[in-house]
Formats: sequence, structure tokens, C-alpha cells
Amino acid sequence: MEIVKELKFSVLSSGSKANSLYISSGQTKILIDAGLSAKKTIERLNSIGVSEGDLDAIIITHEHDDHIRGVSVLSKLLDVPIYLTQACYLSSILSKTISLHKVLFFDPLVRFRINDLSLLPFPIYHDAVQPVGFRVSDNDKTLVLLTDTGTFEGEDLKYLYNCEALILETNHDIPTLWSCSYPWQVKQRIAGPVGHLSNESASKIVNAYNKYGGNVPKIICAAHISENSNSPDLANYALTSGWASKNRNSPSFYTAGTAAASDLFAL
Ligand SMILES: [Zn+2]
Ligand SMILES: [Zn+2]
Repeated sequence: MEIVKELKFSVLSSGSKANSLYISSGQTKILIDAGLSAKKTIERLNSIGVSEGDLDAIIITHEHDDHIRGVSVLSKLLDVPIYLTQACYLSSILSKTISLHKVLFFDPLVRFRINDLSLLPFPIYHDAVQPVGFRVSDNDKTLVLLTDTGTFEGEDLKYLYNCEALILETNHDIPTLWSCSYPWQVKQRIAGPVGHLSNESASKIVNAYNKYGGNVPKIICAAHISENSNSPDLANYALTSGWASKNRNSPSFYTAGTAAASDLFAL
């Protein structure tokens, strides 16, 4: 039998309310985060032609509710291991709702494998316990997930290079954030060094690819877009204007939301 080597993904939901990313390779199907209810997670998997019973694992980036809401029920319904850091498990509701024999611990910056997928968790800057972004690779292609980080620059940009897909937080537009109805403390938290990436910061990240000589992504997806302090159009404009390279093939730009699962993209 021919082994299919194709990395695919669908953003099941992305935004301040719920985050969940489906990734599949030739042999493996995983979720990174399950912030939708279990029922909605299953509905959205089914909407892209995936049976929930085929999942091999659920991986958690951090313990905020918009990333773990469905995890406890899914772990009861499905016989899948839950991967997370020990600190995340012990500090969260998950230590009370999911028994230890169903969880597997990873450490930031220690690569681990699930069948034919290799996952590298890397540290991000967010007000959670040991939050991480991910590089996920089959033997051929790589997808990077970077959301829920207040800042990301300099040396850290190495985690974003040499990938075929980048799912990148464009949480807020700075002027819209400061003029929206959020309380002052919430605005400060979001804009702070361990809050969320602005359109402006994401634009700079995309622009950094212009100075980088290696592979650039085929797909860049704007993610974790706030409903109150951003819009898909503003987020998309930030990324496309950040790219601004005339010399290199432009990636395809998409915006992910919370209303429905995205297409199932093949890399
Ligand atoms: Zn968070
Ligand atoms: Zn979040």
C-alpha cells in the first residue's frame, strides 16, 4: 500500500472565544487545543470529513479556557492521550478532570513524536503557565502555530522559518483596541508583553521573511482575531502589507474565525 505523505490542516475555530486546530499526516490525526465544546469540536471535524474516532491525540498549548474548554469531555468520549506540560496540567482544571493515565507530558524545546509527526514546542510570552507555540512536521512539510504571545521577535523568529504554513496571531489593531469598550486593565493586559500579538507586530513578523533567505510559507493564516478590537479585513491587510516583497512568491493569505471550520488545506 502506498503511504500518503501529505500534511493537511484545518482551523476548526480561532479567536478570543475558542481555538482548535486539526492537523493530519499520512498516519496521524491530531488536534492542537480544544477550546470548542466537545459537541462542536466533533461537528466541525465531521464537517471537514474527519471522524472524531480517528483522532490520535489532543495537544494543549496552555490552560486558558478558550484552548481547553472541550478537552475533559473529549478525553472521556474518545480514547486519546492528552499531551501537555506537567506545569500546565498541575495548574489547571485538567488535573481534576482528566486522570493521570490519560495524559502525556512534554517539555518546551524537547521534540516529541506521535507516529509520523514530529512536534517541537517552543516558548511564547503569555500570561499562562508554560505556554508554547508549535512546529509540527511530517518527514517533508512543516506547519507553525504561533498565537497567544505578547511579543515575538529577534532570535525567536527562527522557530517560524522553513515552514510551508504559518498560523499567526493577529489579535488586535492597536488604535481599535484603545478605543474599544474593554475595561482599561483588559486593554493593558492584551497589549502588554505577555498578552496578545497585534496586527502591527504580526506585520513585522511577516516582513522579516523578506530578509530571510530560506523557504517562505505557501500559506499564512491570520488567527486569534478579536471581535471587539480587530476585523478580518484589518488583520488581512496587516499581513499582506507586511509581506510587501516584489522578489519572492507571495504566500496565500487567509483569515481564520470562530463561525466554522476553515477549508482543509494540503501543504
Ligand atoms: Zn491564552
Ligand atoms: Zn487564546
